[in-house]
Amino acid sequence: MHELSVAERLVQLVEEHARRAGARRVLTIAIRLGAHSHIAEEALCFYFQQLATGGLAAGARLQIERVPMRFHCHACNAEYAPEAEDWRCPRCGRVGRLLDAGDELWVESLEIEAGGGEPS
Ligand SMILES: [Zn+2]
Repeated sequence: MHELSVAERLVQLVEEHARRAGARRVLTIAIRLGAHSHIAEEALCFYFQQLATGGLAAGARLQIERVPMRFHCHACNAEYAPEAEDWRCPRCGRVGRLLDAGDELWVESLEIEAGGGEPS
């Protein structure tokens, strides 16, 4: 159940951000998923809704975008997103290192409903 642990991490992260921003609740969460990640979006959404229940992120909409993985080439210091399975550096042809290895999901932005806090 890979998606379950990812959803747990996601809820934690979002709640933390929302609390820090003084949000009343989270409306939308824009997420990026590595293009080669094996996360099933439906399962992720399902677990997310389960885990978010009762918290700031309850009922939030997940906006998932698949993005290519990013590589870094040590030989020429280029950063690039390889096409399909060709992981070679477009500049020098060497195979670079995967950036954020193991980090197949990250939160791009949060849309929150601001809490009725202090007037600004
Ligand atoms: Zn290179």
